[in-house]
Amino acid sequence: MSQRLTIGCHLSTSGGYEQMGKTALDIDATTFAFFTRNPRGGNAKPVDPEDAWALTAIMEEHAFGKLVAHAPYTMNLCSAKHETIDFARRAMRGDLERMEYLPGNYYNFHPGSHVKQGVDRGIELICEGLNEVLVPGQATIVLLETMAGKGSEVGRTFEEIARIIDGTRHDELLGVCLDTCHVSDGGYDIAGDLDGVLDEFDRVIGLERLRALHLNDSKNPCGAHKDRHEKIGLGHLGLDCFAAIVRDRRLRDLPMILETPQDLDGYAAEIAQLRALSEGCDG
Ligand code: FE
Ligand code: FE
Ligand code: ZN
Repeated sequence: MSQRLTIGCHLSTSGGYEQMGKTALDIDATTFAFFTRNPRGGNAKPVDPEDAWALTAIMEEHAFGKLVAHAPYTMNLCSAKHETIDFARRAMRGDLERMEYLPGNYYNFHPGSHVKQGVDRGIELICEGLNEVLVPGQATIVLLETMAGKGSEVGRTFEEIARIIDGTRHDELLGVCLDTCHVSDGGYDIAGDLDGVLDEFDRVIGLERLRALHLNDSKNPCGAHKDRHEKIGLGHLGLDCFAAIVRDRRLRDLPMILETPQDLDGYAAEIAQLRALSEGCDG
């Protein structure tokens, strides 16, 4: 019998770190995600070390799993504009420096959009950026998020993710966060064949790289390349797919982050529902 699920959702940083820990406790979350700066970009608040320690204390006392911080959406390591690449590299380095106050957690980012430069050039630029930004000995593993393939997003196939990892010098600092809405939109039929998709992930990337999950249902069918999240059980993946995920021996011990269109009460209900499903009851 495995431990309880490590599950949570995106939380607002507006009250600080300790407040996020308290909010997590309120909704029975044992991990969570937060934006390391305004999701649309911009400057980051300096870290208050005491606030970070207060969160760490809550996490230890309540046996939290690893947090999955999220980089801003505007960060594009493979933009066609030099200034955008420059901002992305500086933002990521700054975020990772601030993450040192919460050592041992994850930092997830969208690999980028190649904006007509082609996927090969996109991958090359992403690797170049990671080679500049990742520092041996840093306390944070950086996760590449699997993407839906909207527009010119890089990372919609497992092959693209694998090529980024292969092209990065300090690949021991890299892992993958699998977003259930994105992989389905990207054309991987996790609702119909979860086992087959995980086998494919293992063959192409290696399951040891899989460090976290984003749990989202999708408003669109497999292969739609849209990226519109739906509440758990109400979209094209359906509740059975999530029941299979939270019971899967290869997945159930990973940190799971809900990014569904919910308020806090809605997240609390989804967390309770998924915990019940993982324990074998249909709750
Ligand atoms: Fe994301
Ligand atoms: Fe996601
Ligand atoms: Zn998404």
